[in-house]
This record gives sequence, C-alpha cells and structure tokens, in this order.
Amino acid sequence: MELSFHLILLSLLLSSYGESSCKCTPRSSCWPSSTIWSAFNRSIDGRLLAPKPYAWPCHTPQYDPVACSAARQLQNNPFARSEVVGAMQYPNWESGITGFGCPLNGTGALSSPCYQDDVSIYAINVSSVSHIQAGVVFAKKYNLRLVIKSSGHDWLGRSTAPGSLCIWLHHLTNIFTNDSFVPQSCPVSDPVPAVTAQPGVTWDFLYDFLRQRNRVAVGPMGSSPSAAGGFVQGGGHGPLSRTFGYAADNALEFTVVTADGRVRVANRCRNPDLFWALKGGGGGTFGVVVSATYRTFPDLQLGYVQTLFIAASATRSSHEDLIAKFVEVTPSMDEARLAGYFFLYTNYITLSFVLPNGTAAEARAAFAPLVSYVEGHPQLLVITYTVTSYPNFVQWHDGVLCATNPGVCTDLTGAPRALATRFMPRTIIQDSPAVLTNALVRILFERSFSPIFGLFVFGGAAASVQGRNNSLSAVWRDALWHVSLSRTWNDSTTVKERQQIFQYLTTTDDILRNITPGGGCYKNEADYFEPYWQDAFFGEKYSALKAIKESVDPTRLFLCWKCVGSENLVQGNCKAAGNRKSQHTSLT
Ligand SMILES: Cc1cc2nc3c(=O)[nH]c(=O)nc-3n(C[C@H](O)[C@H](O)[C@H](O)COP(=O)(O)OP(=O)(O)OC[C@H]3O[C@@H](n4cnc5c(N)ncnc54)[C@H](O)[C@@H]3O)c2cc1C
Repeated sequence: MELSFHLILLSLLLSSYGESSCKCTPRSSCWPSSTIWSAFNRSIDGRLLAPKPYAWPCHTPQYDPVACSAARQLQNNPFARSEVVGAMQYPNWESGITGFGCPLNGTGALSSPCYQDDVSIYAINVSSVSHIQAGVVFAKKYNLRLVIKSSGHDWLGRSTAPGSLCIWLHHLTNIFTNDSFVPQSCPVSDPVPAVTAQPGVTWDFLYDFLRQRNRVAVGPMGSSPSAAGGFVQGGGHGPLSRTFGYAADNALEFTVVTADGRVRVANRCRNPDLFWALKGGGGGTFGVVVSATYRTFPDLQLGYVQTLFIAASATRSSHEDLIAKFVEVTPSMDEARLAGYFFLYTNYITLSFVLPNGTAAEARAAFAPLVSYVEGHPQLLVITYTVTSYPNFVQWHDGVLCATNPGVCTDLTGAPRALATRFMPRTIIQDSPAVLTNALVRILFERSFSPIFGLFVFGGAAASVQGRNNSLSAVWRDALWHVSLSRTWNDSTTVKERQQIFQYLTTTDDILRNITPGGGCYKNEADYFEPYWQDAFFGEKYSALKAIKESVDPTRLFLCWKCVGSENLVQGNCKAAGNRKSQHTSLT
C-alpha cells in the first residue's frame, strides 16, 4: 500500500510537470557519469562522500555491530548526529514525508531495507572555500539539486533532498574574536567587539569560547545548532534575545559564496541588500555562508537568576483558571525582564524562566502574583518553586540543560518529530486574554495536544526596530510568545499515519492562526504544511526578499522547501510550471 502511494505520487509529479522541469537525479539521463564524478572528486581534493541514513550500519548486508551499537547509543545526542553526513537531527527528514525510511531500533542486524530516500547522493566534505565554489559551479553545470547542511537541525528537513549534492560545512570550524571589529569597507570610526565563526562551530562551543573572555552573544537555548547556518539567517531567538535583540539583529557581517561561485562579503557597507536578506530571509536561499560575525556583549554583572515553577491542578476548571492566570501575568513578567520557556500540560504547568542581570528578590517579586494565586486556591498546588542564582551565562545555561538532560547538556533530538507554531502578539495576550486562554484550552483538551510548548523570549530589546535594518517582519517585534505544538512517532508508524499526523498538526494550529489574523510564525520552527507561508514567515518583507533572491540567484540554484523564491518547488526536485501560493494542495 505504501509502495503504491509512492508510485502514484511520483507519476503525478512527472505527468504534471514533465521531466524537463526537474533537477537531474541518478535516474535521469542528465545525471553525471561516474567518470565525471571521479574527476570532480579529484578537483576537490578527494572530499566527495556518499552519505547514508543514520541507521545504515544497522542493516544487512552492511551491518557493522560496533558502528550500529554506537549509533543506537548516541541517537538522541545532537552533537553526535551532526558528525554523520547523512544524518538529520530528526530522522523523519532523512525519509521525507512519504519515504520508507531506515529504521534504527531493534536488536542486532536489521533485515528490513534501509532506503536512501531524501538523503543526498553525494556530499562535499568542505575544508576550504574553494570546495564550495567548485560545488556551486558543478551543480549549476549539471542541473543538480544542491543543498547546504551545517548541523542538520532544520525542522522542515531543508538541509537534505532526494537525489541531491550536499555542501556539508561541519568541518569548517574557525572561530575568533576581535575587540574592535569594523565591517569591511565601513568607516573605521565605530569599531565594536565581535566574534566570527564558521558553520561547523556550534553555539555551545561559541558560548564557552566567549565565556573565557567574559563575553556573551545572542544564540539559541538548545545550543547544538550551527553558529553560522540556518539559525541566524532565520532570525535566531534565545534566552538573551529579550536583552540584546535577535541573532539577526546582532549580525555584523557574513562571508558568502553566491550562486555565481563568487565569494562575497556582505555587511552594511558592502552588498547591503544581500546582508539585509541574510538577516532573516532564511538559510539555504541566498548563498552558502562561510562565516558570520556577531556583536558581543560583556557578560551580565549581576548574573542570571533561574526560576523553576511547577503547579498542578486537581480539576479541569481549576486548570483552565490557572492557564488564564498565567496569560494574565505574562505582561508583568515581561516588564520584570523575565525570559524563558513554558509547558502547558492538561493538569499542570511548568515555567523555566531566567532573569538576566537581576537578583533573586526581583525574580521572586515577578513570580509573586502567580505563586500567591496558586497558593490561594485549594484545587491548585505548587509542586516546585526554586530560585537559583548563577554568576555567568554559561553556568546558568549548562546548569539548566545539564539538569534536564544529564551528560548531553542540551536539547535531545533523534526521535521523529514535526511542529506547528504561531507567534502570539502582545496585543492578544494583553487585550484578549480570554480568547487566547480559550484557544489553549481547546488545543489541550479537544485536540489532545499536551504539552503546549511556549517560548517567552520576545519583547524587550527584541521588540525594538531602532538601528535594525533587517528582513525580520513586524510579527517578530510584536510577539511576546511563540507557541509550538509538536508530535512524535516511531519506526513502525506507517506513511499514511505520518501524513495524518502532519494534517492534524496543521488543522490544530488553525486554532492559533484564527485568533491571530495577519500574524505569522518562525520559519525555522514551523509547520511543514504552513499555508500562505510567504506571509506567515516573511510578512511585509517578502517582495523585497524575492527581488534580492532574483538578483543574486537568477537561475534558482538554491531551492528549499517554503524558502524565498522556491514557490515552484514541489516535494522532491521538480519545479511546477505554475506559480502556486501554497504547496499544500500539491501533496494531498
Ligand atoms: C534541538 C534544537 C534546538 C533549537 N533551538 C533553537 C533556539 O533556541 N532558537 C532558535 O531560534 N532556533 C532554534 N532551533 C531552530 C534552528 O534555528 C533551526 O533548526 C536552524 O535552521 C538550524 O540551523 P543549522 O544550520 O544548524 O541547521 P541545518 O539543518 O544544517 O540548516 C538549516 C537550514 O539552513 C541552511 N543552511 C545551513 N547552513 C547554511 C550556511 N552556512 N549557509 C546557507 N544556508 C545554510 C540549510 O540549507 C537549511 O535550509 C532549534 C532547533 C533544534 C532542532
């Protein structure tokens, strides 16, 4: 049944769009011969790899007991997955929406097939910029689908594609600071302290690197993504974005290989349009970023106060009241400069918030209205309420994440997972709290989504546009929360069941879309089937972004799912003849 679905989809694609509108894949006559691939490999110092799915060593006939056991042991460790060229952080993107997959779990050798599915056919294990340039020229010449991968964290699987050539940047690991950084071609009058990193550097490494210099930069909470990849190009929020703005707000310069194979420096003085687009217009779209430079800040003098608050409810109605109270106190918590993450379950809530540069007394004062509300209601119970001070950012960050995931000390990955999300603007939280509460309650109880994950890292400095000329849309400035719904599944889930899961995510997220008309969501953490994604991801900035895309990549070498200028890409490698607003219908 799964096979027939696959074939129907393939024949639909071919009949609708014709082979000529597709990129060359191993099945097409235009695919380079092995002689051509060998010559290309020699031209890039023998750096060509043949990626395989993460679980490849666990399958016969290539079963390797040592490698398989290591793969199973490390499957949820994002740093370990990043080391494997063919691995995505979420294995569902290795198989794509309709692929057959390559199961990992079981014991001993697995006799079930391991399909290549969406894993790239070849990858360039880049160790110098010239390898990227060669890859760009080669992909253009042979009409290949080209993808860019730094860490494989993409929530929509955009760092891999079936039949593609991958530019793998994991081994570009230079990092350095400059106390008086001046962007190239800019006046030397306003130097700022900065850090420059290549895509193989993780945020985790960068945080530690800056810690030794008593400085910080704006990066993600889960610290395994690349410090010069999709995170900053998508916008980049984190525990310090409320204090210093988003990562895109703090980017000072990029070095990029563009679709013509040239190396360009982009900053406010050189290639300013490209610079503007790279700060929010999305990864995999405008070129291959070779390095990113960010403003750094002195680590905060008063340190970081972490508050963990867990409260449970005895009845559904008391739980609804608790959620309503939490929505009500959000603006005052924002005013008190708290930032963090929350989980709403069906009978309890968890808040993990930090007060940067504050005191324990201030944190307690900010929590007081919520704590006293819970303590004053017999059907509510405080389960945990701890307030802990840390002297610097890294100790706070590691303290929180090592407690959650000992050993790995960051967010775990490795299980199949998909998201659907929405920004919640300050206005709905402040002016229509009952509408928002009602939506959250419906999602929890009618749609059985538990937990609802909330990111509360907006507002403050992130709300300001002053001096920030970038492509993040207005929804980023108006937001106080980003709400995230997710679903996971396992190796035995069928293709049909997976499709139903995606559909359920999309229809459930409609509850949030309906209460935030004209709103949007974060392109890096989004529904694969986000409708009207141009508006949702890029808002009023879309037409300018598309014009820049057309000027730097007129032949659309860089294509990715729901990326600027990629509206004609249907799942796989074909381009539709028409200009569709939403891809959703082409897949159902
Ligand atoms: C565990 C986890 C935690 C996360 N935490 C946060 C968080 O706290 N805050 C937040 O804002 N986001 C967070 N994200 C989302 C994250 O920002 C995105 O997944 C981001 O796209 C990852 O970028 P990457 O380069 O590391 O991943 P990749 O999957 O390698 O790349 C992501 C996209 O960028 C492109 N790309 C990668 N490198 C380059 C490059 N050098 N040049 C051009 N294009 C490139 C890829 O082609 C792909 O389209 C998290 C994701 C995960 C899985």
